[in-house]
Amino acid sequence: MQTITRKSLLYKTNVEYGDYCINHVLGCSHGCLYPCYAYLLKKRTGSVKDYKEWTEPKIVGNAIELLKKEVKKHNNLKSKSVHLCFTTDPFMYKQPEIISLTEDILAYLIVYTDVQECTILTKGVYTITGLPIADHFKYGITLVSLNEDFRKKYEPGASPLKDRIEALYYMSRAGAKTWISIEPYPTPNIIEQDINEILDAVKFVNKIVFGRMNYNSLAAGYEEFYKEQAKKVSEFCLKNGIECYIKKGMV
Ligand code: SF4
Repeated sequence: MQTITRKSLLYKTNVEYGDYCINHVLGCSHGCLYPCYAYLLKKRTGSVKDYKEWTEPKIVGNAIELLKKEVKKHNNLKSKSVHLCFTTDPFMYKQPEIISLTEDILAYLIVYTDVQECTILTKGVYTITGLPIADHFKYGITLVSLNEDFRKKYEPGASPLKDRIEALYYMSRAGAKTWISIEPYPTPNIIEQDINEILDAVKFVNKIVFGRMNYNSLAAGYEEFYKEQAKKVSEFCLKNGIECYIKKGMV
């Protein structure tokens, strides 16, 4: 796998997932076609020239070196939260070098820093317990459908849904806090499905985040639909004692 060198690794964020984020890879072989916000951003800023280049990820070769330096500058991350990743996937499917680097980063954060919470979100699978599982580590998957044909069309390089859910369950059994992101949830003109079936498949999780499609013109004008789905998610979470986060613009 090709490597790149970066000047910094820890970025401050204003979004709900964390105070800081880490994106230790450029590109993503999952190649989602919702479309992927990260791809649109990287293409606009000239970091990648096209979809093909985006789906051939490059690893940040000096990631650990940067992390060690930057953590010190930020008071060892005391009382802060860190999220992996916003513009790539930390457990990219069938990418062992990326998975290994993510493990190293997480292990460093969990063991050597005072980070309050460390979250990951993936469309891959992670079932190796090479990581110290701590209370403040949260493993999450994106899950917007249970339909494998939909997954093959919109998340062509990502893991099969069954494997993704199984890995989530495995991490939950291993002691990690688990969560799912149902975002970007597709509208019925893209796929007809019952959101309660998705919720039922993961009712062991600790938290559910729900959000709409924002960058697909097919999803325009579905405000009522999204309100109804958000209500179903909230009710399900309430009934099952699951923490719920409905993204802005849904209700
Ligand atoms: S997994 Fe995330 S970063 Fe990767 S292509 Fe899909 S949406 Fe983009």
